[in-house]
Amino acid sequence: MLLPIRNGLAPSAVFLGLNALMREVLLASCSGRAVDQSNFPEDIWHAVQANEPTRAHLQAVRDVIDATDTTIRYELYLAFQEVTSVRQLFSDQALAIPEPPEAVTAELKKLAAHLFERTSKLADITRACGESIKDHYSRYSADPAPGNGNVCGMCATELLSQRRSYISANEQWRAPYDHLLAKEKYPQFGVDPDNLLPTCHTCNSKAKLAKDLLHNSEGDRRICFDPWVEHAHGKVILRIDFDLIDLTPKVSLFMTPADVAEQEKLETWNDVYRIKERIDGEFITLREKLAEDLDPSSLENFKRSIESKKIIKMSAARLTPYNYWRSLLYAALTNFPDQTLEQLRILSLEGLDPYGDAAATYGI
Ligand SMILES: [Zn+2]
Repeated sequence: MLLPIRNGLAPSAVFLGLNALMREVLLASCSGRAVDQSNFPEDIWHAVQANEPTRAHLQAVRDVIDATDTTIRYELYLAFQEVTSVRQLFSDQALAIPEPPEAVTAELKKLAAHLFERTSKLADITRACGESIKDHYSRYSADPAPGNGNVCGMCATELLSQRRSYISANEQWRAPYDHLLAKEKYPQFGVDPDNLLPTCHTCNSKAKLAKDLLHNSEGDRRICFDPWVEHAHGKVILRIDFDLIDLTPKVSLFMTPADVAEQEKLETWNDVYRIKERIDGEFITLREKLAEDLDPSSLENFKRSIESKKIIKMSAARLTPYNYWRSLLYAALTNFPDQTLEQLRILSLEGLDPYGDAAATYGI
């Protein structure tokens, strides 16, 4: 996570309710007792019983656990009971990850996928939980706190989703909920609200793919940020270096961790969401980016605009993509001597290109 998640936002009532239901069914099945309906919102049980596919998936999980050897079932009970949220796995590298037998995992995967994709959208579930998934999404992405704004907090490079005028909140497009731990690999956390975070299309569908926050590409356990309380903000900087031969400036992201654990968490975040590649790539066109934002009319005005843009862009980091990173860029520029800034000012003048192709094309 890059941007801190704001305090005080209630989690999705639908995911909370479905997760409580799933946990209760797993614990009841493993201990061979009846489901205790007092462990989840009252009307959820009636809603899932009235929905044949959901009822069938729940029963299939119960049946497959019933058919499991008693000792394994007891071990599974202890494992499910110990890990109540993915957040424990994010922060505790030594904590064992529950590993149900293959047959149980297969049914659990089907149940998790069905609860997430289908059951969560049932009108009866919305009624039982008191809100829909979209209601939670609207609260999460709202601009005023405790909303987190419409910019992806994982990367700050993309909108969560485009907002449309004259469209009610429930009809707006919404971003996908990223399963921080994939529901195919960790199905018991498939509807855990702590495992579900709205992220942008690029983070969710292009950068992350099948990568696992808890294991590196060699399959070794690694640590990662608990995105609900930890973040990379304040632990990354941008640096501008000049090519030794042609003096072309190049922007690069650097991590500034306080300790080894923080370093590892930053590396996991970068590896899973491809952050450095994306940020370094954005500023390949540094000249044009400087021309967009800064005042090149004199060196004094150039320096003044760097100072003001550094503050303005950071204050609007949750409003417009890349503002966060542009603020870091201007923070880096404030350390440069006048001679280097003059070089960049001249460069940004070239980036404006007021009488070039663009002017001819658009008749400016
Ligand atoms: Zn993103």
